[in-house]
Amino acid sequence: MEQTLKGKTILITGGSRGIGAATAKLLSEMGALIIMNYNQNKDAALKLMSSLTGKGHIMMQADFSDPDTIEKFAEQALSKVEKIDILINNAGIYIEKSFDELDFAEWKSIWQRTIEINLSSVAHLSFIIAKHMKKSGGGKIINISSRGAFRGEPNALAYGASKAGLNSLGQSMAKALAADDIFVYTIAPGFVETDMAKLALEQARGESIRNQSPLGRVAEPIEIAETIAFLATGKNEYLTGSIIDINGASYLRM
Ligand code: NAP
Repeated sequence: MEQTLKGKTILITGGSRGIGAATAKLLSEMGALIIMNYNQNKDAALKLMSSLTGKGHIMMQADFSDPDTIEKFAEQALSKVEKIDILINNAGIYIEKSFDELDFAEWKSIWQRTIEINLSSVAHLSFIIAKHMKKSGGGKIINISSRGAFRGEPNALAYGASKAGLNSLGQSMAKALAADDIFVYTIAPGFVETDMAKLALEQARGESIRNQSPLGRVAEPIEIAETIAFLATGKNEYLTGSIIDINGASYLRM
């Protein structure tokens, strides 16, 4: 594979599984040095590390549900490398429970955890890394959002809201940071074949989920990773501020 990311250092959150793991693997094949965050799945993170191309990749544990974690995590990551060229905010959670089944205590707990991991930690990490990028001459931030931000998430309201907030954050950051050669992109996938979607895809409704797309299937993680790789390569400054749908025509927004 062409080494189009040789010399680039990429920090990716949630790299132990799913979309993050496929992305870390692909970007390492393209020559990048990977700093990969994981939370609970050390074994999966170690397995992924051993599958990366090249040497010197770094893995770091951090739980983004804790509001005090991000600053320490970012400082530690920055202390390990000369500079971070690309930040990929991929870690996320999806908690599904119907409105009628929730009591207020559960509602609040799901809301707080989801917003903390999917939105607040992304905002804080992006702020710190963008300050670093500003000093080091620029960079790219790629946020992994969701189709749910547009289509609605009737059984995961906090998730939908967190991703809509992430879309807005990315657009505002793109405007705020373009003059410093920092470009911000958002990707909004529909269902992807990962652990996050496993439960839904294995249930009886799995078939109707696949049939939301005229392709009759959901996305493979590599299809998201390939789009991230395209954004990471550097030939697309004018895409800054964009939200890119990858949903197999399952939901076409105007
Ligand atoms: P996944 O397979 O469930 O993997 C989630 C990743 O996030 C794991 O590496 C996990 O780390 C990490 N993570 C979870 N909670 C964390 C926490 N508290 N602190 C730090 N890291 C944490 O999910 P995925 O499907 O690859 O999703 C990746 C992104 O794509 C998410 O932002 C998701 O919202 C978005 N997305 C997914 C789909 C889909 O259908 N799969 C659709 C649209 C958007 P550990 O395993 O080490 O704990």
